[in-house]
Amino acid sequence: MNLETLKTRIQDNVDSVSKELIGLSYRIHANPEVSYKEEKASKWLADYLEEKGFKVERGAADLPTAFVASYGKNKPAIAFLAEYDALPEIGHGCGHNIIGTAAAGAGIAAKLIADELGAKIMVIGCPGEELLGGKAFMVEKGIFDEVDAALEMHPMAVPENWAGAKMTASSLLDVQFWGKPSHAAFDPWNGVSALAAMIQSFVHIDSLRLHIKDRSRIAGVITDGGKAPNVIPEHSAGRFLIRTAQDGDLDDLREKVIKCFEAAAISTGCQLEYHLGPRCNAMQNNSVLLELWRSNMAALGRQVGEMNINSGSTDVGNVSVITPSIHPFLSISEETLPGHSAQFAAAAVSKAGDKAVLDGAKALAMTAADIAAQLETLARAKEELKETRKRERIFYA
Ligand SMILES: [Zn+2]
Repeated sequence: MNLETLKTRIQDNVDSVSKELIGLSYRIHANPEVSYKEEKASKWLADYLEEKGFKVERGAADLPTAFVASYGKNKPAIAFLAEYDALPEIGHGCGHNIIGTAAAGAGIAAKLIADELGAKIMVIGCPGEELLGGKAFMVEKGIFDEVDAALEMHPMAVPENWAGAKMTASSLLDVQFWGKPSHAAFDPWNGVSALAAMIQSFVHIDSLRLHIKDRSRIAGVITDGGKAPNVIPEHSAGRFLIRTAQDGDLDDLREKVIKCFEAAAISTGCQLEYHLGPRCNAMQNNSVLLELWRSNMAALGRQVGEMNINSGSTDVGNVSVITPSIHPFLSISEETLPGHSAQFAAAAVSKAGDKAVLDGAKALAMTAADIAAQLETLARAKEELKETRKRERIFYA
């Protein structure tokens, strides 16, 4: 079967399961589950893929809601990445119901590639994206070691289809201060305020901002600031996200931020405890694979625009530094809506959202067909990644 026929058949395959895919997308949307608690969504997706002939390993990488579904066993191994976690309170305000079902649809349609060309088709269920960690753990456990190319689509509530986004390296940082309680009016001199240490940390970080590189970000929230105004707070806690445009700058900025906490601990007399969370690599969008994506999207009547430059992060970054990857965005709205919002959640189950599930599944599987049929293109994609690693001073385990 020639490549064009294969791609036409892939589109037919997606259309033949379109009702099932949209139904699943709505079911996941109506049952939002936060990071690492995606029990229903991961089960529904894994069950569905199993029903369609995939061999499914559940609880992959010791994460109960992760899975690896595979079909075929030869090279190259091409993986579609599924995400399905929601946001607290907001539900599917990032549209991961679309990501999960488009990946499953792509996998089912792409079985034909394995049958015709002898490739291995994988759908990898990745939990906990919103906490920027799921794929970091999965990469560490070797889940992506055999993967030759990783493809993920993400919906976006904007009128254009983005080729992808330059996204930042990031790291979570949990901080606690321990002071000493006392009556805030009767004997405040006997107390040591853990809240004061936290407030000073924010001030120090604000002074640091002038000296950080473009697109670096330091954002934090206080999760415990004391219990009562007449008690000197003995404990305070905060959660911070530190981001840099280049992987190579993240360690340096992390150290500077930690110094801000240390300074506050010294000046207030508090004890400092901190814990660094999973590290997320900056997203490396593979331009060789993106060209394939672009022409497949054009065949579906969607023009793909430029790379968006923002300072968000995704844990697909961790996958993108070990295997050629793409993470393009599909429009699900005629107007630009705020990210992580109720409006975005509504768009994730709209007509345009449903179309993104189907077009996403088709373009992902068509791109996989190109990769499996043109191994020299895959070799070029891998060569590009090698160069990128050097240029971007990429940290990877
Ligand atoms: Zn997202």
